[in-house]
Amino acid sequence: MSLSRIKEAVANKKMICQKCNRPVQKFEKYAETIDAVRDGFNIQEIESHATRVTLICNNDGCDWKERTEYWDNYIVD
Ligand SMILES: [Zn+2]
Repeated sequence: MSLSRIKEAVANKKMICQKCNRPVQKFEKYAETIDAVRDGFNIQEIESHATRVTLICNNDGCDWKERTEYWDNYIVD
């Protein structure tokens, strides 16, 4: 679900580079996150629906690259 949202945002040029403000050209998915949280002696696995991606600007003269799970903040409507 979130992966298709990323794909769509990149395809529609709505994922914006934070350095040059042009649309990000590429992304690499690196993980669906399942966060393990230490709670005293127990380890709780908390499933989160975040998808971490590496956003790659790839526009001329811009080398911006960011690994983030807050990619949602970079999508403009
Ligand atoms: Zn850029």
